[in-house]
Amino acid sequence: MAEANNTPYPYEAPVSQGLFDRAAVVTPGGVNSPVRAFRAVGGTPRFMVSGTGPYLTDADGREYVDLVCSWGPMILGHSHPEVIAAVQEAVARGTSFGTPGEGEVALAEEIVDRIAPVEQVRLVSSGTEATMSAIRLARGFTGRAKVIKFAGCYHGHVDALLAAAGSGVATFGLPDTPGVTGAQAGDTIVLPYNDIEAVRAAFAAHPGEIACVITEASPGNMGVVPPRDGFNASLKAACQENGALYISDEVMTGFRTSKAGWFGVDGVVPDLMTFGKVMGGGFPAAAFGGRADVMAHLAPAGPVYQAGTLSGNPIATAAGLAQLRLLDDAAYAKVDAVSEQLRTLVGEALTKEGVAHRVQNASNMFSVFFTDDEVRNYDDAKAQESFRFTPFFHSMLAQGVYLPPSSFESWFVSTAHDERAVERIAAALPAAARAAAEATA
Ligand SMILES: *Cc1c(COP(=O)(O)O)cnc(C)c1O
Repeated sequence: MAEANNTPYPYEAPVSQGLFDRAAVVTPGGVNSPVRAFRAVGGTPRFMVSGTGPYLTDADGREYVDLVCSWGPMILGHSHPEVIAAVQEAVARGTSFGTPGEGEVALAEEIVDRIAPVEQVRLVSSGTEATMSAIRLARGFTGRAKVIKFAGCYHGHVDALLAAAGSGVATFGLPDTPGVTGAQAGDTIVLPYNDIEAVRAAFAAHPGEIACVITEASPGNMGVVPPRDGFNASLKAACQENGALYISDEVMTGFRTSKAGWFGVDGVVPDLMTFGKVMGGGFPAAAFGGRADVMAHLAPAGPVYQAGTLSGNPIATAAGLAQLRLLDDAAYAKVDAVSEQLRTLVGEALTKEGVAHRVQNASNMFSVFFTDDEVRNYDDAKAQESFRFTPFFHSMLAQGVYLPPSSFESWFVSTAHDERAVERIAAALPAAARAAAEATA
């Protein structure tokens, strides 16, 4: 793990560094979510002060083309005028009532309309809450304890789901997390991704004990590793045969990979689904939903308890609804096209410098692995030459392109990524590819 102060990279962000120093006094590691800290790549995390369209501006006044998009939510770019207007209109009416409101109904209707398997939905405030609640509901519904998850998939920081998790857990190479007890993790069965035989063997070894399988609909938290043809359908079939629920975690892919998320791509019908990121329009809003007979077990309709003081917050629901209503077929076509353009540019730049690489995508989500081999699971992802990512990342950053500061994360684009933004990325790639080529382990 690189430390911030022994990186060879020049510090060109004195104001951010000053803020980071202040932050480190009052916040563990100086950040409120680990991957933001740049630990995997070294250097000073950039403190952003504003965002417009595809651009972010940091505290030192430097502008970046943003390929993180707040880790997915900003699919219309930053400060989209119609989303901002919806927020301003909502905030002028008050910020939280602790009662039901029409905004929640409208957002739930929008989700149910778009995603056929979702008959009923419950709003929460983060993806973590959504997966935690979906698993509790699956356990309550089936009366079973065990959960199957896949190595490299990240479902938020839910105790039972942190085993062999992706995202920051992968970035930092953490084997497991202190603070999660054996009792909390003991009912979690971790299997290699894309391996249906392992799933069948686990069901055979634990007859009548497995409440659910939870999987990222198309994983993006170990880098982008799409399901092999038929994998999700086979998972669904294995669940059905064994009386377990199939939970598709679409917190990242939902409303991002198509109008109906990954379900809109592969059509496999889950029992329960989870959403977050895009559906909040940049605010804390998330959801879980699915079969009405399963959702009926949730309080106050049923006995499985779940609640939230700020669930369905009027500002968050207004932002999410405004964003979803702008996400029509034309918007997805635009995001898909920009993604394809960038994938081609990145591939060409790395090929030109002779750098082993694979650009993998799941519709418009994509990431770059520094390896010649197909990446099908977490072990494959870890086998890449991650040391090439650090100089690649810093070269792009120095040239005004903000990538996710880890080789285990998806890159995200938006409808706002126009020709000018793409040209800036294209101009930065040759030097970054050269830096990757020259890197040594
Ligand atoms: C981001 C993410 C989560 C967690 O969402 P938070 O809002 O960060 O709690 C869960 N599942 C997947 C697939 C994610 O990408």
